[in-house]
Amino acid sequence: MRIIGTRPRFLPDLARGSDRQAVNARFRAEAEQYKLLFQCTDCVYQRESDGRCTVGWPNDGLMADPVEIIGDRGEPLVCKAFEPDGM
Ligand code: SF4
Repeated sequence: MRIIGTRPRFLPDLARGSDRQAVNARFRAEAEQYKLLFQCTDCVYQRESDGRCTVGWPNDGLMADPVEIIGDRGEPLVCKAFEPDGM
């Protein structure tokens, strides 16, 4: 029997058995290559004073350095509420 831990069942496992660090490294390379905007620093909902999300979403994963797209439980770290600030 596979034990998932505390990850909610509705969260997809993006790594699907792949090496999470390798997937994150590839994402970092492609994000740089294609100049992807997806982090809070590029979002209209980020509060400048402390960097937190004004909508109240937990955004530690989106603020991580180095960037990760998959968390340590295989969960996606992207934000569905991301709104580019129109730069
Ligand atoms: S809405 Fe999402 S991307 Fe935007 S600041 Fe909040 S957590 Fe970050």
